[in-house]
Amino acid sequence: MGSYCSLRAGGRAAGLITLQTREELTGLLRQLRDLHLEYFLVGRGSNILVRPQGYPGIVIRLQGEFTEIESLPSGSNSADRPLIRVGAGCSLAALLAWCGRNGYGGLEFLAGIPGSVGGAVYMNAGAWGEAVGDYLAAIEFVDEQGGVQRLGRQDMVFSYRQTALKTGLLGKCVFLSATFYVERVAGDKVRRRCQEYIAQRKTRQPGGVASAGSFFKNPANDFAGRLIEAAGLKGARYGKAMVSPVHANFIVNTGGASAEDILGLMEYVQKEVTKQFNIQLKPEVQII
Ligand code: FAD
Repeated sequence: MGSYCSLRAGGRAAGLITLQTREELTGLLRQLRDLHLEYFLVGRGSNILVRPQGYPGIVIRLQGEFTEIESLPSGSNSADRPLIRVGAGCSLAALLAWCGRNGYGGLEFLAGIPGSVGGAVYMNAGAWGEAVGDYLAAIEFVDEQGGVQRLGRQDMVFSYRQTALKTGLLGKCVFLSATFYVERVAGDKVRRRCQEYIAQRKTRQPGGVASAGSFFKNPANDFAGRLIEAAGLKGARYGKAMVSPVHANFIVNTGGASAEDILGLMEYVQKEVTKQFNIQLKPEVQII
């Protein structure tokens, strides 16, 4: 799975299927249920790591019609704000480029996050004090029984890097699309804001290296990066995985790191931080 995730490491999956249509998806889910095969969705793979022993089920990627974006007719919500509907397979970069072309603002804080809409909603991705959940009007998903469901924002239970999808409150489901509240903004302003956010990222985060972004969640009232740095772990290595000297909450693949290297370093960091500060860091990265 290293070819499908931004850490460029990971064990093998039993199979990987790329789907283009909803019909294909519902058909596949039915077959997988009949065969008692497990599955998980992968977006852009920028927040996952498959364990060295691999994943015994099927990995599903959504492309084709799952990448479509449309603006909804005005008056389609009581808040009277413009709404756009985006397929879960659409990359955040393509969404923001579309917003720039069509003059819709609000989501620029996502600029530079290398994920998909599916992954961003699942993770409640965020930056600069804002998160996806702040802008979501509704989501559409396929539930465990194969039925398409729609959920309004009041039922989604968002908190820091957490959604009802992730906590399993909705059971195992495949997320199809998200409807976002946006605002009418001149396209060049949207593009400029995106460029500013990307420029700010470049000054704070390691560039040009394989990573999954922030590896650990911030514990309550503190920052994982601050704790790791204070523990003297910047630059610490385990095999070919390294704690970034630029940003201590980034574990980077210095070239050819295995999933063992990355998990070994993760455990070492957790152990040291617990020993020195009595705080248990939890990975933000989904370990599969
Ligand atoms: P994946 O990694 O592919 O999947 C993540 C989870 O979502 C998995 O559990 C997967 O099963 C689930 N999932 C994906 N699609 C679906 C679907 N259709 N239905 C059901 N489940 C689904 N994150 C932030 O929040 N803020 C940041 O500022 C940030 N900066 C980053 C910077 C870098 C350089 C990198 C590499 C990562 C960064 N990330 C950041 C992490 C990551 O990019 C985000 O969490 C992103 O939203 C994940 O999207 P993805 O498509 O890559 O998800």
